[in-house]
Amino acid sequence: MAVPFVDLKAQWADLKEELLPRIVAAIEAGNFIGGRAVADFESHFAAYCGVGHCVGVGNGTDALYLALRGLGVQAGDEVITAANTFIATSEAISMTGARVVFVDCDPETYTMDVRALTTAITPRTKAIVPVHLYGRPADMDSITRIAAERQLFVVEDAAQAHGAMLGARRCGSFGHAACFSFYPGKNLGGYGDAGAVVTDDPELAKRIRMLANHGRIAKYDHEFEGVNSRLDALQAVVLDVKLSRLEDWTERRRTAASQYHMALRDMGLPVPGDVEGGRHVYHLYVTRVPDRERVQAELSKAGIATGIHYPIALPNLTAYRQLNYRHEDFPVASRYQDELISLPMFPEITSEQIDSVCKALACAIDGRRP
Ligand SMILES: *Cc1c(COP(=O)(O)O)cnc(C)c1O
Repeated sequence: MAVPFVDLKAQWADLKEELLPRIVAAIEAGNFIGGRAVADFESHFAAYCGVGHCVGVGNGTDALYLALRGLGVQAGDEVITAANTFIATSEAISMTGARVVFVDCDPETYTMDVRALTTAITPRTKAIVPVHLYGRPADMDSITRIAAERQLFVVEDAAQAHGAMLGARRCGSFGHAACFSFYPGKNLGGYGDAGAVVTDDPELAKRIRMLANHGRIAKYDHEFEGVNSRLDALQAVVLDVKLSRLEDWTERRRTAASQYHMALRDMGLPVPGDVEGGRHVYHLYVTRVPDRERVQAELSKAGIATGIHYPIALPNLTAYRQLNYRHEDFPVASRYQDELISLPMFPEITSEQIDSVCKALACAIDGRRP
């Protein structure tokens, strides 16, 4: 059985009836940028995250950039983030003029190693950007404690972690601000680019909203220069409908993950379980295999699509060669970049599809033919 990596068509079939009339109504209302649809989604998403404010923006990368700029991060500052994330995280830091400082990841959780974080702090450090990678909450207890001791800002990169939890709190409610991407393939995704910043700080929310809209205080009156990065009404309509399904989709992802866990344990492969007292939302289901190139090719031959997140840890990228990092500076991220493999994961994946993936994977790691 062929299994795709994600299947957005299955989701559309389920949403079509509810979504199409709302899209038509939004077009007929004639408000394409901002307006009621955007305000409604923003208030629903803020409530979902358990914070006071949500500012819809153009995409997740801009959300990070705008949050950092809103907090006053600028040239001369250093901002610490994880070595193993998508480049958008570090790009957003560089966009503010600040210097990116990478730290290695924890070998068990794949999220920022808090001991490495402590060592990376200097007098120039202004902020920490932990990433809830793959949908697994970072160690926010330790990170927010360290940040408070050193008076640093925390901006969560929650682009892969809509609905993830630690205790009774959602990811997105721990930092001074948190950033979400609604890229189509994310757990909550639009039909195009979109993103949001959430925060409990009303002044910060106001500043970010202005920054995202040319620093505007009134039409053609601008307090400072900003950028154009706004959430459009059609995306807000799509996101608002999808938000009402998110809990159900997350539970389905978690059910699929449990089935993977059992099969992977039998194969002796690492299982990406929950953090204690936390809720992993499985944006990606990631394990590690020896001889990955061959395993991935065998799976592909069996019709199983997989991904690699990410094949080159950020400090090892050509884009960051000027930082003069060495592979040895990031032993875990550098080793894992050759072993990580992401298996098909989406809410509509069936138990039969997961069986097919696991059978093909068992054959591939044994070096047997399926
Ligand atoms: C997707 C993603 C982003 C960027 O979001 P865009 O909406 O694509 O700009 C940032 N950080 C992480 C970890 C992501 O996965």
